[in-house]
Amino acid sequence: MKSKRESNARFRLVLTLGLAVVLPALTLILVNFQHVKSIQRDKKVEALIHRDFQYLLTISAKKMASKAYTLTEQARADFPADTDSDDEKRRKLDLILSKSPWFAHVFLFDAKKGIIIQSQRDHDSEKEAGESVKMYSGWFGLEGSYLCELLRKRPKPIMWSSGEVERAGGTLYASTAIFSFPNLSRDRTVLGGVRFDPAYLKETFFPALLEEVTSQNFTNDPEQLYGQTFHELMPNEAFGHPDQRLAMMVYQGDSFKAEGDRPLATSAGWGSGKPEVSYKLDDPFRGLTLGIKFQGTTAEAIGRRWVWQSFLILGVLSVLMIGGLVLTYRSVNKQVALARLKSDFVSNVSHELRTPLALIRLYAETLELGRINTQEKKHEYYSIIRKESERLSALINNILDFSRIEAGAKEYDFRETDIAELVRNTLDSYRYQIEQQGFMFEEQIDYGIPSVKVDREAIARALVNLVNNALKYSDSEKFLGVRLYREQSVLKLEVSDRGIGIERHEQARIFDKFYRTCDPLVHNTKGSGLGLSLVRHITRAHGGDVEVESTPGRGSKFTLSLPLVQESRASV
Ligand code: ADP
Repeated sequence: MKSKRESNARFRLVLTLGLAVVLPALTLILVNFQHVKSIQRDKKVEALIHRDFQYLLTISAKKMASKAYTLTEQARADFPADTDSDDEKRRKLDLILSKSPWFAHVFLFDAKKGIIIQSQRDHDSEKEAGESVKMYSGWFGLEGSYLCELLRKRPKPIMWSSGEVERAGGTLYASTAIFSFPNLSRDRTVLGGVRFDPAYLKETFFPALLEEVTSQNFTNDPEQLYGQTFHELMPNEAFGHPDQRLAMMVYQGDSFKAEGDRPLATSAGWGSGKPEVSYKLDDPFRGLTLGIKFQGTTAEAIGRRWVWQSFLILGVLSVLMIGGLVLTYRSVNKQVALARLKSDFVSNVSHELRTPLALIRLYAETLELGRINTQEKKHEYYSIIRKESERLSALINNILDFSRIEAGAKEYDFRETDIAELVRNTLDSYRYQIEQQGFMFEEQIDYGIPSVKVDREAIARALVNLVNNALKYSDSEKFLGVRLYREQSVLKLEVSDRGIGIERHEQARIFDKFYRTCDPLVHNTKGSGLGLSLVRHITRAHGGDVEVESTPGRGSKFTLSLPLVQESRASV
């Protein structure tokens, strides 16, 4: 009946825990798990990184183009006027070259007057300028007016021509700007142009721009470069790691194969390997491609690490949740068991109170009726009444002490005491009862036990509880032994019996409040389950402790240890 009620309570608890905590938490973990799995399956992190790489490449390409346009427009503004003499024109073109070391040569083509081309004073530029004269004259001679017409229609009157030039170390990429002068009348065919020095492009222009883009401290402000979605999905740490700086490069052609190809220019930290994402450049650098990758890692590795980190976090969360559940379940189980012990306690105590009261009443009534004639009988009845009332007050004292301890209001009155005398006196008042019950009683109190500061009443109560237990839980062999002796700086008070004993696994629990063992004799003997918990509290308050040695069927020995030099803890 009882266990059915208990298992019902437990079932209700498990159900509540299940519905209120486990189910939502598990669902949350499962949904997250699925989410991370889908990210892993679809390689979403990688895709997002690539998308952001693409974005970064677009920005870089724009930056490069805008820089090339700016330099070209600056030069164009300084171009000679139409009315200038040829010498003046040459001087002005030379001035542009000296101001702009990034141009290999500049030229001015007029359909009526021919081409003027000025170059930097180095061997390569002069050689290329010489070769270009022919090419430009031929080309502009044929298509000059068409080109002017074409440029007029553009928002910026600049067009680009790119190709390769021969240099000592091999061919180099070159880009030339060709522009018109919109202020001149429409029937004039005049074109200007600047060629970027291929060596300057390779050694200064591209490396500087790549460095500028990759060295931006976007790890601190990734929002600048990475879309919001990226952040929704990807924790900052992905980019917060110093290993995850970016590297960029520029190469010629459409595809870059790590083995043979040499990039035109790279940012610091490119190392080797292929770009993760590439972007084909348009004018002014048509024919070139920009590449990007992480320094020392790949988007795939970052994606994989992120997924595993997420799985790990989910795993730890699940373990924590399960641990929490187990703890809650155990603590509630404990509470349920305590509630059962309490209800047992109430029924035991009421029975314990009722029995002596009934006996007292019965013997008092019999005496009152005057039917008892012999003095001997009368004496026996009086002693029963005294004993039963003693039992009653012992029980009530236990309960009162217990409730004081529970309320934290138990106070001890420590006084200098001859403890040998205290033990002797306490046992004397029980001697008759002990012998009456047929117990063999052995009392051994050593000589010369020093006096010690104790609460007399409390120590006597502890001893009485132990003696009572020895009497209650002895079966066929009735023996009670009490020993008081000194062991160095500790006083030992031993109470032993040869009774039913206590199973090993129960020995630690008998000192818990309300706890009673499962032995059938214990079951049939009334008790409150408070005695030993009081004994422990009392000895600890005296700075000592209580221990039990017991063998089932052979008997038990309880030992109180009281330090002679006490640091008593009155409010334990
Ligand atoms: P109570 O005796 O009122 O049940 P106690 O706190 O004094 O409560 O004891 C707790 C339990 O410890 C007892 O119910 C009994 O099972 C066990 N116990 C205590 N003393 C002895 C003993 N001397 N021999 C065997 N079992 C004992």
